[in-house]
Amino acid sequence: MRVVFIGPPGAGKGTQAALVAQRYGIAHLSTGDMLRAARDAKTEIGKLADQYMSAGQLVPDDIILKIVQQRLQADDCRAGYLLDGFPRTLAQAEALDAMLAHQGTPLDSVLELRVPEEELFRRLSGRGRSDDNPQVIRQRLVAYRQQTEPLLDYYHRRGLLKTIDGLGSVEEIFHRIQQVLDPLLEPPRQQSSEVPR
Ligand code: ADP
Repeated sequence: MRVVFIGPPGAGKGTQAALVAQRYGIAHLSTGDMLRAARDAKTEIGKLADQYMSAGQLVPDDIILKIVQQRLQADDCRAGYLLDGFPRTLAQAEALDAMLAHQGTPLDSVLELRVPEEELFRRLSGRGRSDDNPQVIRQRLVAYRQQTEPLLDYYHRRGLLKTIDGLGSVEEIFHRIQQVLDPLLEPPRQQSSEVPR
């Protein structure tokens, strides 16, 4: 199962993505986590990415694409994966499509986790990550609206988009997600049609 998770910062993608990965036995690929790991390891890519992240701006597409392309080759992605925080621009979405078409492994579904902006701001302000100060939060929301929201239309036109209400308890939201993803699972094997005597 190959799934993309789209939603604004603070929508709860990370929390739900971890649950989804566990429930469906697929890899959880968070580009935000990858970039933070690179930053903390002080690699060249990490240092470069940090300049954008700490300003609430998107890291340039070529950097992200290189990281994702490599990560998708790993063994744990063969059973499927959930992309959390990628793609975030139309160019990334198109590059992903091209990559997956080339491998013959198209996406199965794109989930949008939708949460009203006041609620996002409230949640992010209480979180305390280094890019969670008000000015940077505002910039991340702007980046979402301008660069990532157009993807909703892109995937809607391809018949892949499902919107999930992101308000409620973690369990309630996970239940909504399962209602969308469960039907994508392989159908259970037919029981023997012999009627027991
Ligand atoms: P959030 O969704 O809360 O903003 P993430 O952990 O997904 O948090 O991302 C943190 C930061 O990492 C983003 O603000 C951005 O700078 C960078 N980033 C993550 N994924 C991408 C991506 N696909 N393209 C560009 N930048 C990204």
